[in-house]
Amino acid sequence: MTATPDTTCTKCGRRLRNYSPDGLGPKCRRKVRRAGKAPQIAAYKPAQVEKAVENIRQGGIALLRKSSKNRVYMVVGSDGTATYRTAQAACTCPAGLRARHVCWHRVAAHIFDLAS
Ligand SMILES: [Zn+2]
Ligand SMILES: [Zn+2]
Repeated sequence: MTATPDTTCTKCGRRLRNYSPDGLGPKCRRKVRRAGKAPQIAAYKPAQVEKAVENIRQGGIALLRKSSKNRVYMVVGSDGTATYRTAQAACTCPAGLRARHVCWHRVAAHIFDLAS
């Protein structure tokens, strides 16, 4: 399951000219790769970053709402069926609502935020 139909880039919304397995256009993919290696992301637990990067690779995150303050994403959960609304600072998943620690969905959102 991917977060959006594969006709537009899941990060910037531009039309894709070619099929993209992760739903990203070439430019956005490059930016996202770079963002995944940023120091801010390296500050998270490696296992969380790994899950976030894997999710992005499978097209499991898409921009839902773009506002000047915070971007909200739709993130497909690890089981491939549940979806959450996620921003860098908050997430609607069970762990996120308890807010004890940062879930990997938020790490994925942070990577997308950095990639813009
Ligand atoms: Zn794009
Ligand atoms: Zn979450």
